[in-house]
Amino acid sequence: MDSRTVGILGGGQLGRMLVEAANRLNIKTVVLDALNSPAKQISNSTEHVVGSFSNPDDIRKIAAKCDVLTVEIEHVDVSTLKELTSEYPNLKIYPTPECIEIIQDKFLQKQHLQKNRIKVVDSLPVDSPTKNNLLELGRHFGFPFVLKSRTLAYDGRGNFVIREEADIDEALKVLENRPLYAEQWSPFVKELAVMVVRSVDGQVFSYPVSETVHQNNICHICYVPANIPNSVELEAKLLAENAIKSFSSCGIFGVEMFCLENGEILVNEIAPRPHNSGHYTIDACVTSQFEAHLRSILELPLPKNFCNLSTTNTNVIMLNLLGDVAIKNNELKICERALSTPGASVYLYGKESKPNRKVGHINMVSSSMDDCIRKLDFITGKTSKQVTISVTDRMTI
Ligand code: ATP
Ligand code: MG
Ligand code: MG
Repeated sequence: MDSRTVGILGGGQLGRMLVEAANRLNIKTVVLDALNSPAKQISNSTEHVVGSFSNPDDIRKIAAKCDVLTVEIEHVDVSTLKELTSEYPNLKIYPTPECIEIIQDKFLQKQHLQKNRIKVVDSLPVDSPTKNNLLELGRHFGFPFVLKSRTLAYDGRGNFVIREEADIDEALKVLENRPLYAEQWSPFVKELAVMVVRSVDGQVFSYPVSETVHQNNICHICYVPANIPNSVELEAKLLAENAIKSFSSCGIFGVEMFCLENGEILVNEIAPRPHNSGHYTIDACVTSQFEAHLRSILELPLPKNFCNLSTTNTNVIMLNLLGDVAIKNNELKICERALSTPGASVYLYGKESKPNRKVGHINMVSSSMDDCIRKLDFITGKTSKQVTISVTDRMTI
């Protein structure tokens, strides 16, 4: 399909699913990560680079082997990427180093969005993390508020909710030596996420809104369509598209949002890459988030409606599969039940099972959401109430 080689910084599950989409189109990929990482397991290229996306030498090695360089993670060494743009004038890097630089520092990202009139939660920098300064922030925002690491955050590791003054000492200890900022508490009734594709010529396209439920700060379940009024769906898509228009970059982005009781929506954070909340697109949309990313960075066609649901009555639930806390690999029992469930597709990432580690996901597609929930109940062997919130518990706004 394309004679160019795509280099991927990071070979986890997102890299693996990018490689899978590339393989179908016969697009060559090379991956930079540890030996036998999930993405490398499904690609027999002899060109993969063993190393790290934060190591300048390793990034240079992969850059020498590809025409387009992309990422599956934003925590990469940006200064090396910037240098590469002059060392390899023909190399395309998407997302652009400038875009990654803003997004990988969550406070810079918030400032950038605010400057571009995108509604976000109020935040302030914490340049000097002392008890007194945090007390002052508590007075400013009120309690609870959230102390967050500006960099290298994922799955809530890097966040500390300060519920009262007495939590401050522990927060400072847990987030010691990390660059910090503070965020107002957002009393959301739902979390939403929208995948947005930006083409090289600056057009943006958004996928349907996904209603995301987190457990212990880790994405647990996504429902699409989200249980929200049409007006909120349209506003969320518009907000996400506007947020992505503010970056001169290209490819897929995940926009995480908070939806307040009155239907107001704020951006929580943006990922400049495929995103967990977009895994449902593999089975429920015309084009998956992974293929859409490849098509956009390679300037391949993105025809009309490519990001629509496959049919107007497609409903889907995505369940993340986390490593069982008590018994190693016990989560595979969920997969076995999924394999015998009509409309369910199992994705395993080739990762060792460890407690609460994301090791796979399951998409359940049906013409009704009630039916998707019945499938979820069967697959998890529980009622959906025990798994998460049931349809009736999903707050109506
Ligand atoms: P990710 O894995 O999505 O990158 P992260 O480590 O960057 O996660 P955040 O997205 O900042 O973390 O926060 C994780 C979760 O914590 C959010 O999805 C939300 O449930 C909750 N949260 C974060 N910030 C706030 C806030 N200001 N008010 C209320 N809840 C919050
Ligand atoms: Mg994050
Ligand atoms: Mg997040």
